[in-house]
Parts: sequence; C-alpha cells; structure tokens
Amino acid sequence: MSAKPYRCDGCGRREFKPAPMLRDDVWLKLADEHELLCDKCMWRRQRERRVSITIHSLAPCPVNLASGWFDEFARLVNSPPRDIDEWRAFALDPWVLARNFPPHSWLVSPAAIEAFKNEIFMQRFGGSVHEASEFLLAFLKKHHKPKL
Ligand SMILES: [Zn+2]
Repeated sequence: MSAKPYRCDGCGRREFKPAPMLRDDVWLKLADEHELLCDKCMWRRQRERRVSITIHSLAPCPVNLASGWFDEFARLVNSPPRDIDEWRAFALDPWVLARNFPPHSWLVSPAAIEAFKNEIFMQRFGGSVHEASEFLLAFLKKHHKPKL
C-alpha cells in the first residue's frame, strides 16, 4: 500500500476521518478554499468561529453519503433537507451503496430495502429457513467469536 499523500492542514495528522464536504459558503467560514481538515479540526474551528453546521451545510455528493455524514446529520433533524432530491440522485450509486448500506430511509424507502433483502434471501436459500439459519450460525461463529 502506498502512503497517503495528504494530511490535515489543521493538525498535520495523516490518518484521519476527513471532514464532510460542506457547501462552499460554509466551508469558507472554516478554512481556506484548498485546505483539508480532519473531522476533529473541523469541529474545533466550528466552535472557535461559531459557525453553524447542519445537514443543510452538507454538499449533496456521493462522498457524504458513502462516509456516513448524511446519516449522522440526519439524526439531528426531523425531516429531510430541502435538497433531498439532489441526495437521492446519488443514493443508488454502487460506490455509495457498497460503503453505506442500507441507505437512509429518506433516500430509498425501507419497504424497497426489505424487498431487496427478501429477494437475496430467496435467491441464496430458495426460501429455506433451515438453510438460512445454518448459514447464519456458521457466519456468527466465524465473525463473532465469543470471548473465552
Ligand atoms: Zn486535524
């Protein structure tokens, strides 16, 4: 693996969770145009400069969906942001789905996700609950080793 070429311009760390992609008008209150910040430095500047960051501050883009920022900010509000249609345009991007599944219920209806899971179940086990439970048991033994 090659070393990551970037570092946080706030603290200099190389290994970090990147801050969300913010709308330009919000980002420019926190940083210069070409600065890169980790999440901790973003929140520190947010407090220092008293900048409001909400779900409406996020730029609708695949990265904010894949990295979970949309879901994280969505928990803080009761209704979808005004630009939800822009977010939905990225929700079915395979790159996004592979990184954050299932999609938030404002992006894809929970009924559709359930139908999808049932379809996978039928394809893999032919509807056999017995085979499915055997598979689940083997999976849990492999991935959730009990502490001895
Ligand atoms: Zn930092």
